[in-house]
Parts: sequence; C-alpha cells; structure tokens
Amino acid sequence: MGCAEMPRHPVPDFTGRQPRNFNDAETMHPRVPDIVAPEARNGGRVKTRGREAKGIYLPNNNILTPNMRSPDYVQMSTAAAITLGVMKGYMHRTGCTRCLNLLLTYPEGCRANCAYCGLARHREAERDYADRNFIRVDWPAVPYEEVIDIVAGGSDGGRFHRMCISMITHPNSDRDTRIVLKKWVKRIAHVPVSILSNPTTMTRRDVQELYDLGAEIFTVALDAASPVIFDRTRGRGVQSPHSWDKYWEILRAAAEIFGPERFGAHLIVGMGESDRDVLAQVQAIRDLGGHSHMFAFFPEAGSLMDHLPPVPRPQWRRIQLARYLIDYRGHRLERMRFDPSGRLVDFDFPKDELDQVIDAGIAFRTSGCPGKEAADVSACDRPYGDSPPSDIASYPFQPDRRDVRRIRRQLRRGLTGEGQGRAR
Ligand code: SF4
Repeated sequence: MGCAEMPRHPVPDFTGRQPRNFNDAETMHPRVPDIVAPEARNGGRVKTRGREAKGIYLPNNNILTPNMRSPDYVQMSTAAAITLGVMKGYMHRTGCTRCLNLLLTYPEGCRANCAYCGLARHREAERDYADRNFIRVDWPAVPYEEVIDIVAGGSDGGRFHRMCISMITHPNSDRDTRIVLKKWVKRIAHVPVSILSNPTTMTRRDVQELYDLGAEIFTVALDAASPVIFDRTRGRGVQSPHSWDKYWEILRAAAEIFGPERFGAHLIVGMGESDRDVLAQVQAIRDLGGHSHMFAFFPEAGSLMDHLPPVPRPQWRRIQLARYLIDYRGHRLERMRFDPSGRLVDFDFPKDELDQVIDAGIAFRTSGCPGKEAADVSACDRPYGDSPPSDIASYPFQPDRRDVRRIRRQLRRGLTGEGQGRAR
C-alpha cells in the first residue's frame, strides 16, 4: 500500500474465484439497499449538527462532517487534490492527473440511487455525503475560491489540461454549475472546462446556457449500455429518477449545441450488457460526432453492486480496442463480427494495422475529454478509478512494452482462438 489512490475501504477480494470471461446479465443484479433512518435522510445528521466548515476537509467517517455547500465548496478527486497541492500523497507510476475533477457538494448529496455508484442516496444509512468513496477514492472538499486562486496563480505548475464540473442530482446543481463555470472562465483562460451533466434535471436551454457561458465540452454519463441495464441500475430497479430517453434527449441536444468533437458519453463495461450492446452505443455516439468515455465495472465498496465481480480483463480489453477503432480509426460496428450471444469475436481490421494500434497502447489508456497532448489522449486520466494498480484496467499513463505484452495476453484470452484480427 502507500499509494494514495488505494482506497481506505476494504474492497471485495475476487482472487481465487473461477476465472470469468464475461459479466453476464443474470449475475449482475444489484442488491437491495439498507433502510435509511429518518434522521439520516437528506443530510439530516450534518444539518442537525451544523458544524461550520473551515478550510479543506479530508474525508473521515470518524469525525463530524462539516456543513459544506457548493458553490462555496467543491469536492475533488484524490488525484486532483494531490496535483493541486492541497493533499499529500503519491500515485503508482504517475506523478499527477491532467484533469481537475470537481464534484458539487451538498449535505443532502446526490438524490439519485445508481446501483454501482458510491455517492448513491441509499448510503445515507451509513455515511455522510462528503465522506463517501466514489470511483474507488476519497473526494476531499476544498473552498472553491482557493482552488481558483491556486490555478489562476500558476501554483499547480500548469499541470492541469482540463477542469471538469460533475453535476449531481440535486435541486441546486444546475444553478451552482453555472456559478462555478462563470467564476472559472472569468479568471482562468488556459484550462478549458468540461461539464459532466445531470440530464434528469436539465432542459435543452440549460445545455445552451452552459455553452454560452464558456463550457468547451459537454458529457453525459449514460453509464449503462442498454435501456434494460439502465432501468435496472439507475432507474426504477433501484428507486432512482433517471430515464434512458431523457439521457439521450440531452445527449442529442449537446451534439447540436456543442457540435462534433465537443461532446461525449460515459459507458461502463461489465454490468451485464453484451459486447454488441455497448459497441452499438459507441457507434451511435460516434455517428452523432462525439466520443465514448469508457469505464471498467469495478465493485465500488458500499454500492449496491459491491458484491459483484469486476469486468473480466478479456471482455474489457476487446471493448477498449473496438471502441478506439470506432472512435479514432474510422472503423464501424457493422464490420465487426459477433457470436449469437453478442460477444465480439472478430474486429475485421487489417492485422498489421491492428498490431500497430495495440503496440501504440493509447487504446488502453483511460478515455475521456482530451487534454493538450493529442486528440485521442484523455486529460481525464482518473488514476486507478476502475481497478487496483496491481491489475490495471484503464492505464493512467502510456503503457510500456511490458504492459502491452500483458494487454496482448488478455486480448488473446478474450477472442476466439489466438487471432486478434482477420487480415484482409
Ligand atoms: S446520478 Fe451520478 S452521482 Fe448520483 S448516484 Fe447516479 S452515478 Fe452517482
């Protein structure tokens, strides 16, 4: 241990289980949430105690959580806090993150209940909002003016290539996102802003306003790769307010308002969808002019899916590669071959070119909004957000030759036979 991105919370140990090739729909069912005591609902504990917030708050479930609210306060990923210099720590094989991921914060927290998410509403039963783990790490809370002062003054060493505002499902999040965005663009021109939106509370007009205020990229966390999985993990299946149609409505609005290469969608691989399901979404998003940002399913501690297996690497690697071919090499879903269960069995991509793509390693890096390096290299590198450092899913750095050898072994296991593509 010692790596700052390793979670303090115990995570399920799947070592020793029968190796899996695929996370099927029958297995990937969320558990039923605990009952929340009335006094804990809607941030009740934090609001009743009313502890005043002062300076930076590092998540600690053993002390009283201060009463913090956006836009005065924002939370940020552990990696962003280390890079910003407000928290000590180091990260395995990487010195910093290129994306300042900010999360709006309220004692009431996110009012949605997504089954895979550490921020979900049902966690009111055991943990105050600002103390919840999310994509495997803690999210320290920092006064927003302090964040702006550091970046505007250059004390971050210019390491951030992008800032991202993550809205959550809260009645104030639309208004506060606009305030956070306005304050940023007024003082900081060299770090563009992405919006990770909350479509459930938004209209097309809200999307337009964010564009007019200076947001550069707009993203929608579709997360689930089919309407059935969406409803099961983010909708009626878990008493959560989201709907597939509303998410797609806002995604289409973003495509029209922000334009090509300026919008994207998050997708989580391994929640019970088929390869064809997830790649059909990737193709649909590409056809609109956007990009897909992929996450490997990992059982977040405390979430309603924390008892389930992470996405097997063979499944994850073939989807990472296929997504890259669609998003950056002009390849198409219709060319790829699938077995009757929807599993990808052949990329139908020229073998020598496929070898070059695999060896380049970019396809296996974390995907997200671009930074200053290249169009296909994400600023949002989320170190170890979807895997432990011992078995990396999304590489937050350029994979070296040893990494690529490992990736090739995982790919081989994920495809029929030893072939990784069919030469034309
Ligand atoms: S809306 Fe986002 S933050 Fe809220 S529970 Fe769902 S995934 Fe988590």
